[in-house]
Amino acid sequence: ALHNSLIELRGNIRVHCRIRPSLPFDHAAGHSVSQDRQRNSLENVAYAIDDETVLVKCSRPGHAPINKTFQFERVYSATESQDTVFADVAPLLTSLLDGYNVCIMAYGQTGSGKTYTMLGPQLEENFAFVSEDESELGIIPRATQELFRLISEKPPGSYWVDVSVVEVYNNEVFDLLAKDSCGKVFGIKRDVVTTREGKSDVPLLTYETVANASEFLHLVIKGLQLRIRHPTLVHAHSSRSHLVVTLTITTIVSGDNFGTSWEDEQINQRLNKEVSCTCPQKTKESKSTSSSRASSPAQLEAAEKLKQVKTRLQLVDLAGSMSGVTGAALRETSFINRSLSALADVLGAIAEQRSHVPYRNSKLTHLLQDSVGGDAKLLVMLCISPSQKYLTESMQSLGFGTRAR
Ligand code: ADP
Ligand code: MG
Repeated sequence: ALHNSLIELRGNIRVHCRIRPSLPFDHAAGHSVSQDRQRNSLENVAYAIDDETVLVKCSRPGHAPINKTFQFERVYSATESQDTVFADVAPLLTSLLDGYNVCIMAYGQTGSGKTYTMLGPQLEENFAFVSEDESELGIIPRATQELFRLISEKPPGSYWVDVSVVEVYNNEVFDLLAKDSCGKVFGIKRDVVTTREGKSDVPLLTYETVANASEFLHLVIKGLQLRIRHPTLVHAHSSRSHLVVTLTITTIVSGDNFGTSWEDEQINQRLNKEVSCTCPQKTKESKSTSSSRASSPAQLEAAEKLKQVKTRLQLVDLAGSMSGVTGAALRETSFINRSLSALADVLGAIAEQRSHVPYRNSKLTHLLQDSVGGDAKLLVMLCISPSQKYLTESMQSLGFGTRAR
């Protein structure tokens, strides 16, 4: 039984690892291109040797040789497409509509492909679509497309999606959708909501309702462009902050069946009762299906048993892990390293089934509290650069991913 429960626990945290292709900037300045090409294969130290194994192999003069393998649930080589990566992510969206909180986060050193994997190159470059080509879209736009596709198969109006976009920089939270000029969040206020598990409290941030994937993307782009409003963010490179996009999915279940059944049929029954008084719909959607028709006492009684249930999807592009930084960037780096080690501590506590999980040790883990641990499903996407230049950082990331499992 213990063995089984451990397997189930592990089932909640998956670690995938993606090795990006070699890029010109992987090679030290001063080398000619042709030299670089020649040295390319020699300089690579991280390889996907099969679908589940990374090999780091390196021998440098003056260093002990390294020849080490790392196992993950899935390993992607440099040639694997955004399509392939997303195919393994898609089942998590089904879990989300089944009532599980889900978090997908990219971890890795600056330049390892986190933003490429999460957003895609179109969004990464200037926070706007630069081409019509959707084949390079990353996990964030694809997950939202899949979410709305799944919702479109449900009875109309049975799910609502609200979005928040925040950045965590130097252990401060910036609400990128806040209406006021600053958006800096002082302390994370929390709001109690009902989830599949029972009551939970979630950070009180600015949420906007979106009706489809393109509304969602426009909102994320708007949020990313507005980071310029925050004086401290103006000069900060985006890879120095954590980006946390949260989608809150609200549905209605009746009190009687609460926590036991999530069948579509029951949602149908609820909708047939035409009770709208507990509906979370905002003005934008209020024209749709369930309008405020006069209800009979029996209907009202039924209405009282209805509960809004919320699940959350958090999509996170973490700040780049870094080593050996000095000077002005040192302060930033120490904030980044502290928040990433707070994250490692949280994952370690979950893996060891400790009763206390130290979520409150950083703003980042505090924000992710509901979608990491417990019943929630977490996917860590480790991003790795193949080049020897980043050997130290790659070993650190692979170690992080190994301990998280
Ligand atoms: P990070 O967000 O980790 O700092 P980026 O996502 O910005 O890294 O990636 C660094 C560079 O590598 C970018 O130019 C990006 O387009 C490119 N890149 C990353 N991953 C891939 C990939 N799998 N295929 C092609 N180019 C990639
Ligand atoms: Mg980035």
